[in-house]
Amino acid sequence: MILVSACLLGHKVKYNGGSNANELLLRYSESGRFLPVCPECLAMLPVPRLPMEIVGGSGAQLLAGHTRAVDANGMETSSYLIDGAQKVLAMVKAYHVRVAIFKEGSPSCGVHKTHDGSFTGRKVKGSGVTTALLRRNGVKIYSEKDMTARRLEALIQEDLRFDQIS
Ligand code: SF4
Repeated sequence: MILVSACLLGHKVKYNGGSNANELLLRYSESGRFLPVCPECLAMLPVPRLPMEIVGGSGAQLLAGHTRAVDANGMETSSYLIDGAQKVLAMVKAYHVRVAIFKEGSPSCGVHKTHDGSFTGRKVKGSGVTTALLRRNGVKIYSEKDMTARRLEALIQEDLRFDQIS
């Protein structure tokens, strides 16, 4: 299975109650190979909820205990992001997931960039907490911005082949 941020598949789980529905991913969702997941929902955070950012923007640094995440009111939310990431990792192990397509910019799912903790819209190079934990466990992670129809078709075919031989 290919793990996909649930908001990209139209699930209304985003902090503001909306989704990030992605037309390309939705077009291929009938392949049956997508496993939707929202780490922040798995951490039992509500929808809607306050936006969260990692101070400095690095999920790997947060996992190492070198920084923290806060919500827009300044409340520390690191433990929620770590809890969500660990629950997604359990799914990865249960379903033998090797590839994920995650929402760019999120403190949980961000792949190449995240917000810097200033709540000013500024983004920095870095990944979300779930992305950092999954990468550490060998999962290849793409953002929705990395996806083309050709790449997606290749990933789906590869995933089908992997299932047939495992
Ligand atoms: S945690 Fe991930 S799946 Fe959930 S709303 Fe944020 S970007 Fe989407």
